[in-house]
Amino acid sequence: MKKLAASAIVVALALHAHPAAQRTREPSTDGKLNIIAFGAHPDDCDQRAGGVGARLAALGHRVRFVAVTNGDAGHQTEGGGALAARRRAEAQEAGRRIGVDYVVLDNHDGELLPTLAVREQIIRQIRLWNADLVLAPRPNDYHPDHRYTGVLVQDAAYMVVVPNVTPDTPALRKNPVFMYFEDGFQKPAPFRPDVAISIDEVIEKKIDMLDAHVSQMYEWLPWVAGTLDSVPKDPAARRKWLFETRAIRPTPAVRSALVKWYGEEKGNAVRYAEAFEICEYGTRPDEAMIRKLFPILPR
Ligand SMILES: [Zn+2]
Repeated sequence: MKKLAASAIVVALALHAHPAAQRTREPSTDGKLNIIAFGAHPDDCDQRAGGVGARLAALGHRVRFVAVTNGDAGHQTEGGGALAARRRAEAQEAGRRIGVDYVVLDNHDGELLPTLAVREQIIRQIRLWNADLVLAPRPNDYHPDHRYTGVLVQDAAYMVVVPNVTPDTPALRKNPVFMYFEDGFQKPAPFRPDVAISIDEVIEKKIDMLDAHVSQMYEWLPWVAGTLDSVPKDPAARRKWLFETRAIRPTPAVRSALVKWYGEEKGNAVRYAEAFEICEYGTRPDEAMIRKLFPILPR
């Protein structure tokens, strides 16, 4: 017993011998990017970044989607722990279908607030993923969970490099680039697409990903919209219906961004796209850095 106790003390001393070495984490050097996207609910990242996630994952880059709430309020007849478990399983399947990692944090749906505790959860996620690029909603949105997810990620945007903040997880040595998902809200300012990416080659994969969220795509969202009767019962027919209702064509602003990045001819030929706006916090990327972060842009 004495011997064991002594060795335990040696281990404890060794762990504390270089506390500074544990305080920060160096950027990864294997040439692969670490991308992390935050959505309020399990299915939010999918709609805004599922195509880009699929394309980056196909090239071997590490992509993680994080739902900040567990989605336990998102249904007309189900709820609580059973719904959270169902939605967690749907999110895992959705991630599997496009090759991205999917994490669902256990915060209640419809009750998210920008508290210090949730900010720390976000900081840990960004640090543990050693993120180069962080994607999140803008903080103006009809849904409070979406709004506060935007605020929480903004609140983390500088703190991820501060070692004394959330010291249980080593701080990043380099601040990631932060970008916003596309949305249609006009106030206080409309979404400005700084980069737009063609997802034509993965649009079917993206719809497959959405199709995994059965409780949302075929039950809750149509129920809220009052269109539940128009959802086909047959799985193949409803998958086709999903494509028709969810494969959205680019807005004029996104089209302009596509032309900027792809040139006149190719940019106008793109059918489906995802676009992102640079957040003013975190590292501000120039054009060369944007090309590094999106190696799926044309050269
Ligand atoms: Zn949502």
